[in-house]
Amino acid sequence: VRTTDKTFFGHPWGLATLFGTEMWERFSFYGMRAILAAFLMAPAVRSGLGLPGTTAFAIVGVYQGMVYLTALPGGWVADRLLGARRAVLLGGFIIMFGHISMAVPVRGPLFVYLGLLLIVCGTGLLKPNVSGMVGYLYRDDEDARRDSGFSLFYMGINIGALAGISVTPVLARDSHWHLAFGAAAVGMALGLIWYVMGRRSLHGAGERVPQPLTPHERRVAVRWVLAGLAALAALTVLLAVTGLFTEDGVTWTVTAIIALITIFYLSYIMHGGHGITPVERRRFGAYIWLFFAAVIFWMIFDLAPGPVTDFATKSVDLTFFGLTIPPGWTQNLNSLFVIVFSPIFAALWLTRWGSRVSSPMKFTFALFMAALSFVVLAMAADVASAGVKVSILWLVVMYLLQTIGELTLSPVGLSVSTKLAPAAFKGQILGVWFLAAALGDAVGGQTFRLTHFLSLTQYYLVLAGIALVAGLFLLMFVRRLKALMGDEDVAPGQAL
Ligand code: GLN
Repeated sequence: VRTTDKTFFGHPWGLATLFGTEMWERFSFYGMRAILAAFLMAPAVRSGLGLPGTTAFAIVGVYQGMVYLTALPGGWVADRLLGARRAVLLGGFIIMFGHISMAVPVRGPLFVYLGLLLIVCGTGLLKPNVSGMVGYLYRDDEDARRDSGFSLFYMGINIGALAGISVTPVLARDSHWHLAFGAAAVGMALGLIWYVMGRRSLHGAGERVPQPLTPHERRVAVRWVLAGLAALAALTVLLAVTGLFTEDGVTWTVTAIIALITIFYLSYIMHGGHGITPVERRRFGAYIWLFFAAVIFWMIFDLAPGPVTDFATKSVDLTFFGLTIPPGWTQNLNSLFVIVFSPIFAALWLTRWGSRVSSPMKFTFALFMAALSFVVLAMAADVASAGVKVSILWLVVMYLLQTIGELTLSPVGLSVSTKLAPAAFKGQILGVWFLAAALGDAVGGQTFRLTHFLSLTQYYLVLAGIALVAGLFLLMFVRRLKALMGDEDVAPGQAL
């Protein structure tokens, strides 16, 4: 048992260190994300990049996708090269420099795209590993406390998001974009300071490199990295000579790459020659269903900073008592609802009724919530199509439904991933889980192009329809999936 004098809501003080680090990292992430699309679309006279909405939303979607995609290599680096603690530290620095790059007040896209790339790389190192370290704080038999630790941690994520989304849209008023990006950099810097100061509270968690590379593996890894870089260079040249090295060409290419990586990686886990047992394969087969449910859920959910905030900007009445709030603030409805409802949901899953609800059922429910949320948005868009500004209550209901879905899917997804992962992939499973968000976000970012031939109302209805059909499909197989998964989704002590 690790003993320290200080505790954090009954948890080891190390949780406070990780909570604060991730809180500030999310402050920077969500703060910047809240205004990214507006900045990309703003015309040059308002110091923006002047991109059309379809392109801007694709960039935001693909950027989010890449942020989650790099969790896979990020987890690997911690597992085999650096250990989680150092990976988080390095990731935090890279993220901070990313935001600093975006804060450089020069015109043109160069420092912006460089900044986004750095944030993508840094978050891959930080995000999966800081989550992984939360797990290390508890002994293997401390399941209940670990779950409650993760709930607190998820709160920290959303407190950070709330603060970030509250600050940047205000700073960015009057086109002070770079000032707002600078605030994100300051947030990440504070997170780093907190992390370094709290080092001793971690009691060596994440210090060890779990599976250091053998010299042979190191040579193989170097070869793979070089091959990857060469492929990337070749692809860039190819895009350049075919005239596709444009924002749209690049986002399409990245979306395709993420889709290919997903297919390749899931098949590799199922069928690669790495000694996965038949039972593990069966369970992982069931997991893949949940994985694709999550893809569709995130596809809808992560449209918040793109089309949804754009709708808030153009068509929602944001004036209250004579004061107009910045449109970016509407994204805070999600963070607020998470902070209010996550303790309720955490308690709900521990009740007799709650513990009977299987993971496939929760995922089905989340898809229905996502579908319903976009039906609501479609209705709002329909009202607004007459040229009037609609009430913010539409967005309140939409975000409420989405958050209920998020809370039945996201924390459950984290825990079911760790439980259904084949032994050989335990270290990479968070990366696999985030891969679902990567694919959903990238594809989601492209969907706005449908508005070339659909009205906004039809567009949201199409997405709602996809979530609905996926939810119904999953519902038909809930029993089968439960059987395939065995009783793996029932935590000890909760079995009936
Ligand atoms: N909102 C959560 C976070 O930022 C979950 C995001 C996700 O998994 N796509 O950590």
